[in-house]
Amino acid sequence: MHIYQTIADLRQALQLVKDDGLSIGLVPTMGNLHKGHLSLARLAREQCDFVLATIFVNPTQFGPNEDFQNYPRSFDDDIAALKLINCDAVFAPNIEELYPQGPKLETLVSVPNISKLLCGASRPGHFDGVCTIVTKLFNICPANKAYFGEKDYQQLAIIRKLVHDLNIPIEIIGVPTLRNTSGLALSSRNNYLNAEQLKQAAVLYKTLQLTADSIKLDKNPNYSELEEAALENISSAGLKPDYFSICDAPSLFPATVNDKDLVILAAAYLGNTRLIDNISIKLA
Ligand code: AMP
Repeated sequence: MHIYQTIADLRQALQLVKDDGLSIGLVPTMGNLHKGHLSLARLAREQCDFVLATIFVNPTQFGPNEDFQNYPRSFDDDIAALKLINCDAVFAPNIEELYPQGPKLETLVSVPNISKLLCGASRPGHFDGVCTIVTKLFNICPANKAYFGEKDYQQLAIIRKLVHDLNIPIEIIGVPTLRNTSGLALSSRNNYLNAEQLKQAAVLYKTLQLTADSIKLDKNPNYSELEEAALENISSAGLKPDYFSICDAPSLFPATVNDKDLVILAAAYLGNTRLIDNISIKLA
């Protein structure tokens, strides 16, 4: 498995892969890999001839008071894990390679409206940072498919729109969320939690499940009341909810009773750690 640090070296290598007529699967990550990340890379391994994982903690998607500096980094372990699943190459550039003029002086890619909802409302500019780095990676790597987790549901929806609107010829593959036994979605940020908090954090997915069950069982569910009850449930477990929203899946707007394809999205703080999760439901 080769590790590339420069765009020029990576492009040269990928050109040879393309010349051989091989398909490329791209797996963008910020490193500190867990089984969730590896499930993306495994699926890419099944579906593509050549698998490229990227490891880059992208400064432009962190707000000024967020955890960019402290974000967990575990490069050697990440490389060992990727080798074990037969990943072909890793792109691990430094910040100057991707933002030579400094992140603030360069072009931003922005997907309107949907980027301002939910996490976008609490983290201004976050999705512009995500869209910019993902577009850069797509321009550097001529992938056939790119893999993103459903755990970051809004991010996945935004990237699908970005690719559609900018006619980027890469198929976006969404991968189901991997969870620990309590139901907590695996996340690099779970590393910030102590043993007690890890138990508390399970309330987020439990509340999503309870709400999904209520919607499925109740013939005439009141979404606002369900959201209120869910926020209360999350608060009483000691978390500070940011939002809990029952949404129409295609638009991510608040769901109406006529919508059948729903997703419930939640974000909450446990201490300083921001956790997100979601659950999808299809109504008959
Ligand atoms: P990150 O390193 O947090 O930017 O995540 C890189 C990719 O892994 C993103 O597409 C995430 O949605 C995905 N991912 C993160 N956690 C999980 C999980 N628990 N299950 C599946 N995919 C995940």
